[in-house]
Amino acid sequence: MGNEVADNQENEQLCICPECPTYKASSFNGNVFCARGKASEEVKQSGCYCPECPVYMKYELNHLYYCLKGKSAEIN
Ligand code: SF4
Ligand code: SF4
Repeated sequence: MGNEVADNQENEQLCICPECPTYKASSFNGNVFCARGKASEEVKQSGCYCPECPVYMKYELNHLYYCLKGKSAEIN
């Protein structure tokens, strides 16, 4: 399992999901998918910026595409 990411305002502000090509291609509304789980919209995979994100570094995350796979703490 990945590390648990807090769903809070600080992480929401740090999350760079809205800049990523998948986010734009999929017209997502939410963010911080590593904490909150899958996007409700259909995911059009076009690249993932998570490894560049301060939240990713802070919680020592190790996956990509949380918008598709769900919460960090729930994926192997
Ligand atoms: S690691 Fe990815 S999903 Fe989590 S806050 Fe950063 S950009 Fe968003
Ligand atoms: S989890 Fe990764 S692919 Fe999905 S929107 Fe965030 S940065 Fe983009």
